[in-house]
Amino acid sequence: MSSQPLVQIGASPQASLEAIIEQRLAEERARLEREAGLQQKEVHHFKKPEERFFTKQERGHTTLLFGGLTWKHEKLVHASFESLGYMAEIVPTANVNAFQLGKEFGNNGQCNPTYFTVGNLVQYLQKLEEQGLSKQEIIDRYVFLTAGACGPCRFGMYEAEYRLALRNSGFDGFRVMLFQQAGGLSQSDCEAGLEMNLDFFLGILNSLNCGDVLNEVAYAIRPYEVVPGQTDQQLDRVMDYVQQVFRQRKPWSLEEKLGGFFGGFKDTAEYLGKFVNQLTSDDLPVALSKASDMYNEIEVDRLKVKPIVKITGEFWAQTTEGDGNFNMFKFLEREGAQVVVEPIGTWIVYMIHQVIQRYKDMKGLEEGAVMPPIWQLGKRAKIEWNYRNKVAKLKIAEAIFKREYHKLVDALGPLGHHLADQYELQRLGHPYYNSRAGGGEGHLEIAKNIYYSNKDLAHMVLSVKPFGCMPSTQSDGAQAAVVSHFKDIIYLPIETSGEGEINAHSRVQMALGEAKNKAKREFAETLEKIGMTMEQLKQFQDEHPETKRPMYEVPHTKGVVGVAANFAIHVAERAKKENWTPKAKTQVEELVAVQ
Ligand code: SF4
Repeated sequence: MSSQPLVQIGASPQASLEAIIEQRLAEERARLEREAGLQQKEVHHFKKPEERFFTKQERGHTTLLFGGLTWKHEKLVHASFESLGYMAEIVPTANVNAFQLGKEFGNNGQCNPTYFTVGNLVQYLQKLEEQGLSKQEIIDRYVFLTAGACGPCRFGMYEAEYRLALRNSGFDGFRVMLFQQAGGLSQSDCEAGLEMNLDFFLGILNSLNCGDVLNEVAYAIRPYEVVPGQTDQQLDRVMDYVQQVFRQRKPWSLEEKLGGFFGGFKDTAEYLGKFVNQLTSDDLPVALSKASDMYNEIEVDRLKVKPIVKITGEFWAQTTEGDGNFNMFKFLEREGAQVVVEPIGTWIVYMIHQVIQRYKDMKGLEEGAVMPPIWQLGKRAKIEWNYRNKVAKLKIAEAIFKREYHKLVDALGPLGHHLADQYELQRLGHPYYNSRAGGGEGHLEIAKNIYYSNKDLAHMVLSVKPFGCMPSTQSDGAQAAVVSHFKDIIYLPIETSGEGEINAHSRVQMALGEAKNKAKREFAETLEKIGMTMEQLKQFQDEHPETKRPMYEVPHTKGVVGVAANFAIHVAERAKKENWTPKAKTQVEELVAVQ
């Protein structure tokens, strides 16, 4: 029996009665549990294991491992780390063996990217061991750096999964460091081995942005190259050159520029100086304009009629260039398509956009509170001010990010794309998928499908969805409604996994057949409209060698998707303007044509 009094002195009869009922219930529950042998056990909450800190003293002999993007992004991030004084190594693109290791050492029921990425780290550490390093040496001399989040999808479990797989594979104690999606910029610790300060974040963002635009442009050129392999050769040269530029970049320092002039305001001045330097420096645009010249040495033939395939889906699956998505990009190019890859920049602005939306939704609500009544002007004004202040800061961050990104796109030439507007994507996707539903890319998968089809930017949308992905599974259901409303869309979702590559490729081949027909039909209709033949277009191209260069600007005509069709319209307009007439064929040429 409880020693608590049943009735409190001074309590109302109603409250006393409820207290008596509660107490009797508790006593009865305890009796039944005793009889059933269900003794109350002490609750042990899970606590994150304490991890050895990566200290500044260790920086000289500790290597940062990172990976999970394309080799182009990784190459530039690597150079950024080096320019900040870190030793770094890239963990190569995950393969099927990594997936198997992820399954062997990780939890059951994870999503596909978890298995690939976690297993990939284990595989890399095992290779270091094979090269002669002991487990303890690996644990002491390496740390792994990766992005983290608190969910709501399995992304929130990555850190725990890395630790579990490392423990199970014998690397218990190996350090995994996260830079959080929602983390601010002030994570620096003066004694930390890795200082997550403004220089670190600007370095990563600049590398990712340059990686995005250089990658996108290479994909836009490769399908039209005249000499097979020339684009990849130039891409190697371009990446080596831009990597060198990143290596030589030094973070802006107040001390170096202005000495100790600012006294007590040193930190603020240093911060501001770095921002202003980011906004005003032109070393990266200059480097990209040189890269543009290097790309421009490639000879292209825009008259190859090809379907354009936009890749969407889950963030990792749509980015990786390997077994993680069945090597889909290479496969599509082999099959005669032009691939439009998704820049990481879209995901970054999406994250900022979602935080702004959350602030809007939560305005005035703290810990479940409600907005004060209208007559409490002071309180309402304070809430309004706090809200506007937070949103304004984020909008400025969004605007700055886009400005910096577009500066690079413009420097590289006409083949890159500006980032899609998040408000437009939200407007397109929300009727089908609630834009406040988080996890993965949320409503973006839906919105991009409509956006790229509506804006005449792709003949087909291919969504790569990892096996076991929660947000992708949800959006798959909504895509059924999208394709029934937008009848012209050729949309194909593919579930990616560690196996089933042949099946996936064959499904893509079938949808691609339809997209190829669409592209051919569009080109044939264009020829009819402009009244020119393929031979005449080729002749114009041969007589105007500048049109055989990838950086030659061809305007996009509304309602026309394909590169060949847009080029044909442009040639027809130019021919008319320049009074160009095709040469009559010689007798020999006529004969060859007849044969
Ligand atoms: S978005 Fe999907 S695949 Fe990616 S981490 Fe979340 S659950 Fe996994």
